[in-house]
Amino acid sequence: MLNRVSDDVQKLLIDGVRVPASSGRSFETLNPATGEVLARVAEADAADVDAAVRSARAAFEGSWGHMKASERGALLLKLADLIRRNEDELVQLESLDSGKPVSAIRRQDLPAVIDTLTYYAGMADKINGQVIPARPDALTYTVREPLGVVGAIIPWNFPLMIGMWKIAPALACGCTVVLKPAEITPLTALRIGELAFEAGFPAGVLNVVPGFGKVAGQALVDHPDVDKVTFTGSPVVGRQILQSSAGNLKRVTLELGGKSANIIFPDADIDAAVKAASAGIFFNTGQVCSAGSRILVHHSIHDEVVERLAARAQTTRIGNPQDTSTGMGPLVSEVQMKRVLDYIEIGRNEGAALVTGGSRHGNAGYFVEPTVFAGVRHEMRISQEEIFGPVAAVIPFQDEEDALRIANGTVYSLAAGVWTGDIGRAHRFTRRLKAGTVWVNTYGPTDIRLPWGGARDSGFGREHGEAAIDNFTEPKVVWINTGR
Ligand code: NAD
Repeated sequence: MLNRVSDDVQKLLIDGVRVPASSGRSFETLNPATGEVLARVAEADAADVDAAVRSARAAFEGSWGHMKASERGALLLKLADLIRRNEDELVQLESLDSGKPVSAIRRQDLPAVIDTLTYYAGMADKINGQVIPARPDALTYTVREPLGVVGAIIPWNFPLMIGMWKIAPALACGCTVVLKPAEITPLTALRIGELAFEAGFPAGVLNVVPGFGKVAGQALVDHPDVDKVTFTGSPVVGRQILQSSAGNLKRVTLELGGKSANIIFPDADIDAAVKAASAGIFFNTGQVCSAGSRILVHHSIHDEVVERLAARAQTTRIGNPQDTSTGMGPLVSEVQMKRVLDYIEIGRNEGAALVTGGSRHGNAGYFVEPTVFAGVRHEMRISQEEIFGPVAAVIPFQDEEDALRIANGTVYSLAAGVWTGDIGRAHRFTRRLKAGTVWVNTYGPTDIRLPWGGARDSGFGREHGEAAIDNFTEPKVVWINTGR
């Protein structure tokens, strides 16, 4: 297995050039499957962020701002092509840095990245205003203008994919970007920045500044020349970002956490429901904002579902993420592993029944067994708080009202699923579930064409689809006096 990406410090990408941090500092990024150092990465601070923002502003006012929209689209397509051609390297790098299984990255993340680029490439020259005939003595219309410099701050659970959810629409709209990847997974973001430059994006259009949240992330949020912050991460940091952005009244989009309910009725296809419920919580080692971490099961089928879910958990292939047969990799860091093991302890102490899993797997790397708690009660912490690990809380319910009370009874509102053969019930639930996405008789798929986001502690605003165009542009009204 590859142990080190390179002995050289991985430099920042500012103004189209790979540069060391101005402080000369660097930090380590680890391979979570082994705990060993994978690479050293230049550590951006406020001075580097300022240089990146200046470069992004210059590109926005300069060549990028004057480029035809169709040419911006063509560059996005070229980047998609380069990503395709460098797929093997990107898959390996993402897997080594995050612990995600290579098979999952190849099947899901990479195709999603390319789909995102292709979708927004096509949209670049279709960002239209409207002619609005407001008055007989005037020609009145709107144009949609790019906001300017975008600060994109992303987490570690889907570094390539979530990064592209922000980069592609922002660039399609004509904005420029300063990307701050999570400090534990900075490597693929830097490589994407390089490929963008290779594709022909002018210097400064995409800058990549790895560093710590409280320093580099905070500097980006505080910077007076950043027009918009698009953030995916935890509710705690989301709140800080909202407060700091008030300085120059930046626009903010927040995609935060979740504690999503996946609700199974006895009239559902139980086989399909259990299979999806298992993937819904164990995919990406449970480190998914929309993970179906609360599996709500009608009391009459509770024991059967628990038994089948446990059987699936026990046959999950945990192991080296670089191995193509691995189904579940490690958690992303030691901190995250400890957090998950602490929550398992909390669940035990709260009196939930630990049916399977519950321990660290092996003693190298940050692996935790797929874990199922049964008979969980709604008020328990393992039912209310986001664990962000492979821990399923199975909660029995009595009837529809009980299921809705439990499903809607956390601080989050991101996603939910309902399994039933009754079309009326399916519609009743889609109407009454508090969630940005409701899946019926499936769990977990997303598509770049569909708006994605939540409410309350899951954040606000929508990414994906046409909603993302509104995130990175604003209308300008033009009023031409045609009266005498
Ligand atoms: P995090 O909030 O700790 O970090 C996210 C990013 O914010 C990192 O790049 C970090 O460096 C940066 N950051 C930290 N402090 C900052 C500050 N003060 N100012 C600016 N930036 C700062 O979250 P995480 O632990 O990396 O990710 C896990 C969280 O992300 C979970 O809560 C999960 O639910 C959420 N998430 C949500 C979605 C979604 O689409 N809603 C998707 C993935 C992850």
